[in-house]
Amino acid sequence: MRIEQDLKLGFKDVMIRPKRSTLKSRSQVSLEREYTFLHSNMKWTGVPIMAANMDTVGTFEMAKKLAEKTLFTAVHKHYSVAEWTTFLNETSAELKNSIAVSTGTGKEDSKKLKEIFDLSEDLKFICIDVANGYSEHFVKKTREQYPDKVIIAGNVVTGEMVEELLIAGADIIKVGIGPGSVCTTRVKTGVGYPQLSAIIECADAAHGLGGQIISDGGCAIPGDVAKAFGAGADFVMLGGMLAGHDESGGDVIEVKGEKFKRFYGMSSSTAMDKHAGGVAEYRASEGKTVQVPYRGPVENTLQDILGGIRSTCTYVGAGRLKELTKRTTFIRVAEQENTVYSK
Ligand code: 5GP
Repeated sequence: MRIEQDLKLGFKDVMIRPKRSTLKSRSQVSLEREYTFLHSNMKWTGVPIMAANMDTVGTFEMAKKLAEKTLFTAVHKHYSVAEWTTFLNETSAELKNSIAVSTGTGKEDSKKLKEIFDLSEDLKFICIDVANGYSEHFVKKTREQYPDKVIIAGNVVTGEMVEELLIAGADIIKVGIGPGSVCTTRVKTGVGYPQLSAIIECADAAHGLGGQIISDGGCAIPGDVAKAFGAGADFVMLGGMLAGHDESGGDVIEVKGEKFKRFYGMSSSTAMDKHAGGVAEYRASEGKTVQVPYRGPVENTLQDILGGIRSTCTYVGAGRLKELTKRTTFIRVAEQENTVYSK
């Protein structure tokens, strides 16, 4: 047994220090980024915010809406090939460039992935969906089968695992174990890593090899998204912040006159009952089921998030999102927002 003594930080432990800025307006800030991916050599341009590959968030409806603003969606893995066929028939090449097809690591998963990719050459992104990142072998196999596609793999939280997955053939690494809003991994296993430190360490490792990272999980407010980018995330993936909207999965539930939508972790017993016929005997659920207030169209939430990050950029003098990390100095804090008037 060993103890690492240096303190690891989460979003709540820091704020971004304002800096002298010549930017006059938020409208001058560009949130678009352009990336060239390590193995596939593909180029992508857009606002690097992603809907999570959860069946309550990474829906076709969400993908359509997010793509209008050049945001990205990791479409969940539970759509059938028939549903994909219908969706792709009514979808432009641009939209296909803003989605990833998620897959598990089983034999059936690989077969289904191939069937979906056979439907359209315009599909470019594969998201390998495993709760912990020991997917190296599967990444290698997938890279052999799809040399030109962009492979997203994860989830990991340490630099050496980032490097292993990049070397195995992944282009983009998903970073985050335990920070998710409906995740109970830290409760059930004691395993985890504060997200801000995970981003800083993993971004450093990935950028050293020419790869990118996605900060996945733990953003509860737009300020957290800005902090994730400030820490070096190339993309930020959102679950809970995009839940509860018209475009999110599931029905609206009414409780005592108030409207809610059900939101649950992909390893929750709700998800396992729905997709795997229950929680297998050898495992525990590692996700919660909650009801989140119904929030109407996702458009308003997107404006809130994008407006917030633009404002962050003006506070630190970053004319483009690309400059945000360079312009970020985090300060350690013992307070966040004033909650006097919060419920
Ligand atoms: P959020 O943005 O809601 O804080 O986090 C979303 C992320 O939580 C997802 O992208 C995924 O990585 C993670 N997640 C989703 N469902 C579960 C679950 O049931 N268990 C765990 N451990 N993580 C989950």
